[in-house]
Amino acid sequence: MLNDKIEILGVEIDNLTMGQAILKIDQMVNSSSCHQIATINPEFLVEARHDKKFKQILNQASLAIPDGIGLLWAARRKKENFFERITGADLVMQVIKKQQHSFYFLGGAPGIATRAANKLLKKYPRLNIVGAIDGGIINDSNLAHQKQLIYEINKTKPDILLVALGAPKQDKFISRWQKDLNCHVAIGVGGTLDYIAGALPRAPHLWQKIGLEWLWRLFREPRRFKRIYRAIIVFPYLVLTRK
Ligand code: UDP
Repeated sequence: MLNDKIEILGVEIDNLTMGQAILKIDQMVNSSSCHQIATINPEFLVEARHDKKFKQILNQASLAIPDGIGLLWAARRKKENFFERITGADLVMQVIKKQQHSFYFLGGAPGIATRAANKLLKKYPRLNIVGAIDGGIINDSNLAHQKQLIYEINKTKPDILLVALGAPKQDKFISRWQKDLNCHVAIGVGGTLDYIAGALPRAPHLWQKIGLEWLWRLFREPRRFKRIYRAIIVFPYLVLTRK
């Protein structure tokens, strides 16, 4: 399939349409290994500047999609254009809607994964959700000691594992366990389960369209200030001053 990549601050991001991304996921589900998908936004790239392991993980992902609007701007500065912005939440919903693959939901605050699963099952009765769990507290020191959790996930043999632990933890978790996971696709999905569960409303469509979803989220969750500062101040600074 034809798709190329656009490099931003040292990270290669796939340039493809939503339709092509969905097709790629279908192909991954039919393959034998477990593929990692990263949903990249500007904060990821700021973080990856001083976290080499995270940068390597993003560059090795089978698919790295441009989730944040800032990436489209950064690409245009290089006279390149992403076909479109593909948010992790939208991509996940498109794949779920097809009701063709089986899913396992991992992460989020206690109860969020099961709430998200129940909501979806009401809407899509043929949807195959084989498991949903918050996973307890997963942190840097116990991330590598999750054999029991991996065992529980593997028992259910999901096609697609959604990991909602926030970045970079979710992406490091997937990378650490990729070889042991009995699934075909593992996606770091950030706040997607919160959106689905209804715990966190997404920004109104107009706000999303004009690229102000971050401002909406800042109003809703002021604790995000540091991250938003990185996205709207540090990231543009790095892009503009990059030689
Ligand atoms: N999360 C989690 N464990 C953690 C950190 C985060 O389960 O140690 C969950 C959090 O509850 C939320 C999701 O990860 O559901 C995404 O978090 P965040 O808001 O940081 O990500 P974003 O949506 O901005 O990518």
